[in-house]
Parts: sequence; structure tokens; C-alpha cells
Amino acid sequence: MSTISKKICLFGDFGVGKTSLIRQFVECKFSDEYLSTVGVKISRKLVKVYQKNLYDEQNLQLLIWDIEGSNKFKAVAQNYFQGSRGAVIVGDVTQPETLNHIQEHIQTFLAVNPKSYIVVALNKSDMIAAEYLEKIRKMYQFNEPNNILDTYITSAKTGNNVDEIFQTLATRLI
Ligand code: GDP
Ligand code: MG
Repeated sequence: MSTISKKICLFGDFGVGKTSLIRQFVECKFSDEYLSTVGVKISRKLVKVYQKNLYDEQNLQLLIWDIEGSNKFKAVAQNYFQGSRGAVIVGDVTQPETLNHIQEHIQTFLAVNPKSYIVVALNKSDMIAAEYLEKIRKMYQFNEPNNILDTYITSAKTGNNVDEIFQTLATRLI
């Protein structure tokens, strides 16, 4: 079976858990230490994508770009977006201002790749009570129906919905 490669980007405010989500997905590991990302780091992971016919599976190599997202580097970040058909935009449920920036991050990404797909990850769900999580998810619904596939409550610590965000994106990339 042939393997195709697709580039995806993780983007969001500083400290929301982008590097941790990638680490959980690729290595099944989590660390409480802050793993500072300078510029960009690229990880790979092979996933299987099932198409309409259940027997029709496709190997997909995800090239996952971990992009440092501070505003100072916005123009640089946009260069890193080139050639990417998908993105995970990440916010932190314990820091509301990071959730308020998600819409702007979506626009920044779509300005470079207007036909791309986006999954939103509301991360660090392990730190908030379940009843608040549902409220937060309802509050943060994003508009672009052609681009935004879904919004997930995630935890890089417990692994909650981590495979799902990448799998949802992967399914639409082929
Ligand atoms: P980045 O700047 O977006 O790449 O954020 P990091 O992945 O480096 O995470 C920043 C801090 O938040 C680190 O101390 C992580 O251990 C912590 N962190 C990341 N994701 C989670 C999570 O889902 N739950 C908890 N409890 N902590 C997290
Ligand atoms: Mg990082």
C-alpha cells in the first residue's frame, strides 16, 4: 500500500499545550515541565485512514508542525503555514484569554490556506470540572462551516480526545 504525506500545523497561544498534545499523540508521553519550542519543530506519525468502504484503508504520514505562536512572530508563523491543508488550533480552558484568541488564529491560518481544514482543541480539560467544560464548549463555537470540522475538549495529560483531533483531521486530508 502506498503512503502519502500531509503537513498539518498546531497553532495557538503560548503555553496552551501544543507541544504536549503532539507528544501525547506521537510518543504517548506527558510531562509537567514546560518544553519550550523555539521557532518550529516537526514530528511525524503514521496513521491509517478508512474511507467509505471499510476495507479501503490508506496509510497517511502526518508531518506535524509545532509552531511557536507569539504575536511578535506572527509574520514568521505565516511562512510556516505554507503548504498545509490542515491545522489544530489550540486554546487552554484554564486561561480564557487564550480561548478568545482562537478566532484570530483561525483567520491567520485561513488567510494563508483558505481551503484548509481546522480542528479546534480546548485543552487541559483535566483541570476543570465537567459541568464547566460543557459550558465552555457551547460558548466557543466557531463559524467557518467549510473549514472547521469540529471542536474537541482535550487533555494532553490524560490523552482525552487527543487521537480524535488528529484522526478527524487526517480523514479529511485524503
Ligand atoms: P505550548 O507552549 O502550547 O507548546 O505548551 P506546552 O505543551 O509546552 O505546555 C505548557 C504547560 O502546560 C506545560 O507545563 C505542560 O505540562 C502543561 N500542559 C499541557 N497540556 C496540558 C493538559 O492537557 N493538562 C495539564 N494539566 N497540563 C497541561
Ligand atoms: Mg511548545
